[in-house]
Amino acid sequence: MRALYPGSFDPLTLGHLDLIERGARLFDGLVVGVLENPAKRPCFSLEQRLAQIRGATAHLPAVSVDSFDGLTVTMARRCGAGVILRGLRALSDFEYELQIAHTNHSLAAEVETLFMATATQHSFLSSSVVKEVARFGGDVRHMVPTGVAEDLLRFFNRPSTPG
Ligand code: ADP
Repeated sequence: MRALYPGSFDPLTLGHLDLIERGARLFDGLVVGVLENPAKRPCFSLEQRLAQIRGATAHLPAVSVDSFDGLTVTMARRCGAGVILRGLRALSDFEYELQIAHTNHSLAAEVETLFMATATQHSFLSSSVVKEVARFGGDVRHMVPTGVAEDLLRFFNRPSTPG
Protein backbone atom coordinates (compact mmCIF):
# COMPACT_ATOMS: atom_id res chain seq x y z
CA MET A 1 0.00 0.00 0.00
CA ARG A 2 1.07 3.57 -0.68
CA ALA A 3 0.92 6.34 1.90
CA LEU A 4 0.75 10.10 1.64
CA TYR A 5 2.66 12.23 4.15
CA PRO A 6 1.20 15.71 3.74
CA GLY A 7 2.43 18.95 5.24
CA SER A 8 3.69 22.46 4.70
CA PHE A 9 7.34 21.54 5.34
CA ASP A 10 8.34 25.20 5.62
CA PRO A 11 11.05 24.00 6.02
CA LEU A 12 11.67 20.25 6.37
CA THR A 13 13.07 19.35 9.81
CA LEU A 14 14.94 16.27 11.01
CA GLY A 15 11.68 15.28 12.73
CA HIS A 16 9.88 15.23 9.39
CA LEU A 17 12.79 13.33 7.83
CA ASP A 18 12.74 10.72 10.61
CA LEU A 19 9.04 10.15 9.99
CA ILE A 20 9.65 9.85 6.24
CA GLU A 21 12.45 7.30 6.75
CA ARG A 22 10.37 5.20 9.15
CA GLY A 23 7.24 5.52 6.99
CA ALA A 24 9.17 4.42 3.92
CA ARG A 25 9.95 1.13 5.67
CA LEU A 26 6.26 0.47 6.38
CA PHE A 27 4.73 1.14 2.97
CA ASP A 28 5.42 0.12 -0.64
CA GLY A 29 5.66 3.78 -1.51
CA LEU A 30 5.55 7.03 0.41
CA VAL A 31 4.55 10.27 -1.28
CA VAL A 32 5.58 13.42 0.56
CA GLY A 33 2.84 15.90 -0.37
CA VAL A 34 3.90 19.52 -0.06
CA LEU A 35 0.96 21.85 0.47
CA GLU A 36 1.12 24.90 -1.72
CA ASN A 37 -1.32 27.10 0.29
CA PRO A 38 0.01 30.63 -0.40
CA ALA A 39 -2.38 31.93 2.30
CA LYS A 40 0.11 30.60 4.87
CA ARG A 41 2.78 32.96 3.40
CA PRO A 42 5.63 30.44 3.59
CA CYS A 43 9.28 31.45 4.04
CA PHE A 44 10.32 29.09 1.29
CA SER A 45 8.67 28.90 -2.11
CA LEU A 46 7.04 25.66 -3.20
CA GLU A 47 9.97 24.98 -5.54
CA GLN A 48 12.49 25.49 -2.71
CA ARG A 49 10.57 23.19 -0.37
CA LEU A 50 10.31 20.49 -3.05
CA ALA A 51 14.05 20.78 -3.72
CA GLN A 52 14.88 20.61 0.01
CA ILE A 53 12.84 17.44 0.48
CA ARG A 54 14.06 15.81 -2.74
CA GLY A 55 17.66 16.51 -1.68
CA ALA A 56 17.15 15.08 1.81
CA THR A 57 15.31 11.94 0.60
CA ALA A 58 17.48 11.09 -2.42
CA HIS A 59 18.73 7.97 -0.57
CA LEU A 60 15.16 6.62 -0.20
CA PRO A 61 13.99 4.96 -3.44
CA ALA A 62 10.45 4.34 -2.08
CA VAL A 63 9.90 8.05 -1.46
CA SER A 64 8.59 10.52 -4.02
CA VAL A 65 7.85 14.20 -3.53
CA ASP A 66 4.98 16.10 -5.09
CA SER A 67 3.04 19.29 -4.44
CA PHE A 68 -0.68 19.78 -3.97
CA ASP A 69 -3.23 22.46 -3.42
CA GLY A 70 -6.68 21.85 -1.95
CA LEU A 71 -7.96 18.84 -0.07
CA THR A 72 -5.55 16.24 1.30
CA VAL A 73 -7.98 13.42 0.46
CA THR A 74 -8.07 14.57 -3.16
CA MET A 75 -4.28 14.37 -3.23
CA ALA A 76 -4.40 10.92 -1.56
CA ARG A 77 -6.77 9.68 -4.28
CA ARG A 78 -4.68 11.31 -7.01
CA CYS A 79 -1.53 9.49 -5.92
CA GLY A 80 -3.28 6.20 -5.11
CA ALA A 81 -2.56 6.37 -1.37
CA GLY A 82 -4.78 4.36 1.00
CA VAL A 83 -3.17 5.96 4.04
CA ILE A 84 -2.53 9.50 5.20
CA LEU A 85 0.46 9.51 7.55
CA ARG A 86 0.75 12.19 10.23
CA GLY A 87 3.19 12.68 13.08
CA LEU A 88 2.30 13.24 16.72
CA ARG A 89 4.82 15.13 18.83
CA ALA A 90 2.81 15.67 21.99
CA LEU A 91 -0.71 15.57 23.34
CA SER A 92 -1.15 19.14 22.10
CA ASP A 93 -0.98 17.88 18.48
CA PHE A 94 -3.63 15.27 19.12
CA GLU A 95 -6.85 17.27 19.29
CA TYR A 96 -6.22 19.10 16.04
CA GLU A 97 -4.99 15.98 14.27
CA LEU A 98 -8.00 13.94 15.42
CA GLN A 99 -10.38 16.57 14.06
CA ILE A 100 -8.59 16.57 10.70
CA ALA A 101 -8.58 12.75 10.61
CA HIS A 102 -12.34 12.60 11.26
CA THR A 103 -12.96 15.27 8.64
CA ASN A 104 -10.88 13.41 6.07
CA HIS A 105 -12.63 10.14 6.91
CA SER A 106 -16.02 11.79 6.38
CA LEU A 107 -14.85 12.95 2.94
CA ALA A 108 -13.11 9.75 1.85
CA ALA A 109 -13.89 6.70 3.99
CA GLU A 110 -11.50 4.48 2.00
CA VAL A 111 -8.50 6.56 3.10
CA GLU A 112 -7.21 5.80 6.60
CA THR A 113 -5.21 8.21 8.73
CA LEU A 114 -2.30 6.69 10.65
CA PHE A 115 -0.35 8.52 13.33
CA MET A 116 3.26 7.84 14.13
CA ALA A 117 4.91 8.99 17.34
CA THR A 118 7.75 11.37 16.70
CA ALA A 119 11.23 10.23 17.73
CA THR A 120 11.84 11.59 21.24
CA GLN A 121 14.99 13.47 20.25
CA HIS A 122 12.98 15.34 17.59
CA SER A 123 9.77 15.89 19.49
CA PHE A 124 10.61 19.53 20.30
CA LEU A 125 11.11 20.42 16.64
CA SER A 126 8.70 22.35 14.50
CA SER A 127 9.25 24.36 11.35
CA SER A 128 8.34 27.55 13.23
CA VAL A 129 10.81 26.91 16.07
CA VAL A 130 13.57 26.27 13.53
CA LYS A 131 12.77 29.56 11.74
CA GLU A 132 12.71 31.47 15.03
CA VAL A 133 16.15 30.13 16.02
CA ALA A 134 17.61 30.80 12.56
CA ARG A 135 16.15 34.32 12.49
CA PHE A 136 18.16 35.23 15.58
CA GLY A 137 21.37 33.59 14.41
CA GLY A 138 21.14 30.34 16.43
CA ASP A 139 22.69 27.13 15.17
CA VAL A 140 20.04 24.93 13.50
CA ARG A 141 22.35 22.24 12.13
CA HIS A 142 21.07 19.65 14.62
CA MET A 143 17.46 20.47 13.68
CA VAL A 144 17.36 20.33 9.89
CA PRO A 145 19.14 18.59 6.99
CA THR A 146 22.34 20.32 5.79
CA GLY A 147 20.78 21.80 2.65
CA VAL A 148 17.94 23.32 4.67
CA ALA A 149 20.39 24.83 7.20
CA GLU A 150 22.18 26.53 4.28
CA ASP A 151 18.88 27.83 2.88
CA LEU A 152 17.92 29.21 6.31
CA LEU A 153 21.27 31.00 6.62
CA ARG A 154 20.72 32.54 3.20
CA PHE A 155 17.10 33.44 3.93
CA PHE A 156 17.93 35.21 7.16
CA ASN A 157 21.07 36.67 5.59
CA ARG A 158 23.49 35.23 8.13
CA PRO A 159 27.08 34.44 7.12
CA SER A 160 27.83 30.70 7.13
CA THR A 161 29.89 29.48 10.11
CA PRO A 162 32.58 26.92 9.23
CA GLY A 163 32.65 23.45 10.85
P1 ADP B 1 1.09 21.15 8.71
O1 ADP B 1 1.11 22.58 8.30
O2 ADP B 1 0.20 20.29 7.89
O3 ADP B 1 0.94 20.91 10.19
P2 ADP B 1 3.88 20.53 9.02
O4 ADP B 1 4.88 20.69 7.93
O5 ADP B 1 4.01 21.42 10.20
O6 ADP B 1 2.50 20.65 8.28
O7 ADP B 1 3.87 19.03 9.54
C1 ADP B 1 3.60 17.96 8.69
C2 ADP B 1 3.46 16.68 9.49
O8 ADP B 1 4.69 16.41 10.15
C3 ADP B 1 2.41 16.71 10.59
O9 ADP B 1 1.83 15.43 10.69
C4 ADP B 1 3.19 17.00 11.82
O10 ADP B 1 2.55 16.47 12.98
C5 ADP B 1 4.46 16.25 11.53
N1 ADP B 1 5.59 16.81 12.24
C6 ADP B 1 5.85 18.10 12.51
N2 ADP B 1 6.99 18.23 13.22
C7 ADP B 1 7.45 16.98 13.41
C8 ADP B 1 8.57 16.43 14.13
N3 ADP B 1 9.42 17.21 14.80
N4 ADP B 1 8.74 15.10 14.10
C9 ADP B 1 7.88 14.32 13.41
N5 ADP B 1 6.78 14.75 12.78
C10 ADP B 1 6.57 16.07 12.77
